[in-house]
Amino acid sequence: MKQYNHLRVKIVSDKKTDNLRELKENLICIKKELLEEYKSYTSKLVPWIVGYSGGKDSTLVVQLVLEMLLDLPPSDREREVHILCNDTLVESPILASYIDKMLAKIKSFADDVHLPVFVVKTTPSINQTFWVNLIGRGYPPPTRNFRWCTDRMKIEPTSNYIQSKVSEKGEVILLLGVRKAESTNRANSIKRHKNIEGTRLNPHSDLKGCLVFRPIIDLSTDDVWLLLMQRNPPWGGSHRDLITLYKNAGGGECPLIVDKSEAPSCGSSSSRFGCWTCTVVKKDKSMEGFVESGHENLEPLLDFRDWLSNYREDRKNRMLERRNGRITLMDDGETTVPGPFTFEAREEILNKLMKTQEGLEISLISVFEIDRIKEIWSEDSIAIASRHIAAHEAYKARRNI
Ligand code: SF4
Repeated sequence: MKQYNHLRVKIVSDKKTDNLRELKENLICIKKELLEEYKSYTSKLVPWIVGYSGGKDSTLVVQLVLEMLLDLPPSDREREVHILCNDTLVESPILASYIDKMLAKIKSFADDVHLPVFVVKTTPSINQTFWVNLIGRGYPPPTRNFRWCTDRMKIEPTSNYIQSKVSEKGEVILLLGVRKAESTNRANSIKRHKNIEGTRLNPHSDLKGCLVFRPIIDLSTDDVWLLLMQRNPPWGGSHRDLITLYKNAGGGECPLIVDKSEAPSCGSSSSRFGCWTCTVVKKDKSMEGFVESGHENLEPLLDFRDWLSNYREDRKNRMLERRNGRITLMDDGETTVPGPFTFEAREEILNKLMKTQEGLEISLISVFEIDRIKEIWSEDSIAIASRHIAAHEAYKARRNI
C-alpha cells in the first residue's frame, strides 16, 4: 500500500510538472504573439486599446502588454497603447477604489519609464447614468428581461471612446482578456467570431474599424491565477490585493463589456463584481462577501439594493402608461404591463438614496445627476400634460363638442 501511495504522489507531481511546463510554453507563445502583433508592419501605427476591468484576466493582459513594451528598445515602441476602463458610476465601492488605485499606479509607472501608454477611464453620460434613468425617467431597476443598463452604462461609453480613436487613426485593435474556459457562453461567443484569414484578429461585431485580438484566449482559470501569483506586475507591488478582492467577493467579475454578444455575462450570477445597484442578480454575493469579510460600512448599500428590488414589484409605485403614453397588456389580455415609477415613487427613491448616503464616506449620486433628474421630472410632467390635453381635444372633436 505504501508503495502505491508513493506511486500516486509521483504521478500527481509529474502531472503538476507537466502542467507547469505547458503553462511556461503557453506563456512564451503568448508573448511571441503579442510582440509579432505589436511590431506588425502594416498596422504599426494603429493604436491598441486594452480593455481593463480590474479583474484577473484583463490585469494579466495589461501586465503582459507592458512587459512586452519594456522588452522593446524605446525606438521600437511606436504604437500607442490605451488602457481602457469603464466606470458605471455605481460600481461596487471596493472594486472602484481598487481600480482607481491600479490605474494611477499603471499611469505613473508608464509615464516614469516613458512608455506610449494612455490610461483612460470612461463613464456614462450624465443623461444615461443609473440614477438619471431610474429616478429621473422612472425606469424600474433592471431585470433579466428589461436590462436597460448595460448598453447605456457600459457599451456606449467604451464604444464612443473606441469610435473616437477609429475616427482619429482610421482603425484600432482592441485587446480583450476573454478566455474560452470562462464559461460555455463565452466559448460559444468566441466561436462565432471568426478571425480574418491569416491573422489573429477578428472584426468587432458592432464597431466598424475595430479589430479584436484575444491574446489569452486558451488559458485556463488556474493558468491565469498561477501566472499572476508567479509574476509581480511591472508597475510595482504584487497581485495580493487582487487575490484578496476575489477571496472576499467569492468569485467572478463583471467584465469590460464592449459588445452586445458579450453582455449576457454582465449581471449574471457568474459576474459578481457588478454594480452595487444590480437587481438582475437575485443576491449581490460579492457585496455580501465584502460585508462578511469586514466591510460592514457597505451594509446600507446592500439594504438599499434589496429594498429597491422589492419596491419595483409593488404596482402602486408604477404608472399605468408607459413612457410613450401607451398602455400595454400582458398575454392574458387583461393585466397591464407596469409602466415607469410614479413621480411620488421617484421622489421617495431619491430621498431614500440621499438618506443612505448620509452615513457614508462615499458619494452615491452627484449634484449633476440630481439636476438632470429634476429637469427630466419637469419634462415628463409637461409631456404627460400635453398628451392628456391632446387626448381631450381629440375626444371633443370626435363628439363635435
Ligand atoms: S452589473 Fe447589473 S446593473 Fe450593472 S450594467 Fe451589468 S446588469 Fe446592469
